[in-house]
Amino acid sequence: MGVGKVRGIVLRQEDTGESGKRIVLFAKGMGKITLSARGARNAKSKLLAGTQLFAYGDFMLFEGKGFYSVTQIDLIESFYGIRTDVERLSAGIYLLELTDQSVLPAMEADDILEFLLTSLLYLSRSSISPSLICRIYEIKILQMSGLLSEICCGICGKEEEPLYFSRQDGAFYCAAHKPEGAMPLPSGAVRALRFVLEHDGKEAFGFTLSVEVLTALDTLLEQYGRAHTDIRCKSRNFLSDIST
Ligand SMILES: [Zn+2]
Repeated sequence: MGVGKVRGIVLRQEDTGESGKRIVLFAKGMGKITLSARGARNAKSKLLAGTQLFAYGDFMLFEGKGFYSVTQIDLIESFYGIRTDVERLSAGIYLLELTDQSVLPAMEADDILEFLLTSLLYLSRSSISPSLICRIYEIKILQMSGLLSEICCGICGKEEEPLYFSRQDGAFYCAAHKPEGAMPLPSGAVRALRFVLEHDGKEAFGFTLSVEVLTALDTLLEQYGRAHTDIRCKSRNFLSDIST
């Protein structure tokens, strides 16, 4: 049965059989779906380019016995710039893995798809640091998943700084309510969190951070993610792992 054309981006790919591929597509209006692409690994296959990671385009689908197969792909964007630099490539792979783990199968999540495409565009064509792009994406995906909405004391709601973060329960606190061992949040990190929460789309990328504040934000978001989600991405610390 023909399903027709869907627009989406390849989040994951694996080899099947002698020359085929199975890909996970994050599709507009459909969410995450698995497709079989016969012969896609053949050098002459017309599916070769469109079944690579980051490939964004229109996929012509047919529904088989419990799975979809793709017969034609019209590539819109390959985010080529991401592949020209190891730091951008590993950040891009992380964004795909985080998306794959955050989005449920067959559940429409067009707001996340839209923000992923914006983030990959900045990763591919701007000079914004890959690490900052990853942090902005993490904040937005937490917000869109309903797991982060405001930066204030979890007990009294106070918004004025200084604010603290407790890795034990993943909550924010004021000076009066902070539990032992809570980490003080640099002002820059609080401002960055609020900026991203209050801006959508391209506007969320309109700031820069010092290396120190970016490092603090990195630690905070890793601990926040651990406290509030089951997501564990192997690719998150790829760069710091290879450089130490
Ligand atoms: Zn308080």
